[in-house]
Amino acid sequence: MEHIEEIRQSIRAICASYDENYWRELDKTGGYPTEFVKEITRSGFLGCLIPEEYGGTGLGLVEACAVLEEISRSGGHPGAAHAQMYVMGCVLKHGSLAQKQKYLPEIANGTLRLQSFGVTEPTTGTDTTSLKTTARRDGDDYVVNGQKVWISRVEHSDLMVLLARTRPVEERTSKTDGLSCFIVELEGARENGLTIKPIDAMINHHACELFFDDFRIPASNLLGEEHKGFRVIMDGMNAERILIAAECIGDARYFTDKAVAYAKEREVFGRPIGQNQGVSFPIAENYARLEAANLMVEKAAQLFDAGLACGAEANMAKMLAADVSWKAGDTCLQTHGGFGMSREYHIERKLRETRLYQIAPISTNLILSYLSEHVLGMPRSF
Ligand SMILES: Cc1cc2nc3c(=O)[nH]c(=O)nc-3n(C[C@H](O)[C@H](O)[C@H](O)COP(=O)(O)OP(=O)(O)OC[C@H]3O[C@@H](n4cnc5c(N)ncnc54)[C@H](O)[C@@H]3O)c2cc1C
Repeated sequence: MEHIEEIRQSIRAICASYDENYWRELDKTGGYPTEFVKEITRSGFLGCLIPEEYGGTGLGLVEACAVLEEISRSGGHPGAAHAQMYVMGCVLKHGSLAQKQKYLPEIANGTLRLQSFGVTEPTTGTDTTSLKTTARRDGDDYVVNGQKVWISRVEHSDLMVLLARTRPVEERTSKTDGLSCFIVELEGARENGLTIKPIDAMINHHACELFFDDFRIPASNLLGEEHKGFRVIMDGMNAERILIAAECIGDARYFTDKAVAYAKEREVFGRPIGQNQGVSFPIAENYARLEAANLMVEKAAQLFDAGLACGAEANMAKMLAADVSWKAGDTCLQTHGGFGMSREYHIERKLRETRLYQIAPISTNLILSYLSEHVLGMPRSF
């Protein structure tokens, strides 16, 4: 598709000003890519999923995937900004007209950042429907108490979509009943009962622990129906999985490009190392796997854009793409020998970054469990 190639070229042109040294420096200092995020927003790409009536460019997930894939392929780290694309989808699909009019135009023009998704809790982890943070209705507010963990970019965001329990577990009508979503305005939140503690982690993802102590959210910021918040986040999750799969494809292409270039250029025993099939075959095998994974990402994105069911494809795309990006990264490091370990070559940073995607936003085991039960009809495991 011609317009996809144009998008790719525009992203490559932007990324050329934010080279691998830019990202390495941020990784070293724990910095946030503020200038990059501003530019990618100003150019309309971060808001590409926001409809034109709200100031966005009104494109689809296929186009959004091309944006994130190219950022990854250039050596950048789209994880710094990607959440804006899929969290916004929750507001677009489930927000009231007033919420959409209030937030979406400012998200599209970059005045507001919606970069944060508050779901995971320390004691319940993957078992989301057991989460314990409560939101109790009190007059015109909800009062939130509890704890979240691994909430990315919360210190670099103006808004967060939060999932909390509004009905006690013992009163819920189904496993997913009793949870509600809220749009949290983060300005002034620290003075209002929210404590934010950054986590010292393996990658520069700005993830934090959150502690809510009688934290008040206006009832008008309830997103979607009360007690039906699980549905709201599920809608964002398919988009999240497909977009992250596209990032992994970008990572796999980055590692493959690098490995090929080095295999052709590095000479040992008087010939290029790539002349040894022990070096070239793993790179070629990863290439085949990456092209296959890419087909699944494209299929999932096309189904999503057509408004069709895409749960299985979104999960498979995420699993296959995360697997190949990790394998391609490992091969790339091996191809570089000792130099692969040097930070100067950037491979170790990208390898750390891409490793996350076998754990988050959903781990490989949970994807296999979904496929076993919902696609293949085997007995439910949990
Ligand atoms: C850098 C980073 C950023 C993150 N950003 C966010 C964010 O912005 N917002 C947010 O809400 N969350 C975020 N997360 C959380 C992430 O989504 C969770 O870490 C992930 O869902 C796994 O949950 P857990 O860590 O509690 O693992 P657990 O649920 O404790 O699982 C541990 C291991 O056991 C396996 N396991 C558990 N149950 C089963 C089972 N029934 N069958 C088979 N295997 C099982 C899992 O696959 C996993 O490998 C982030 C995490 C990281 C590391």
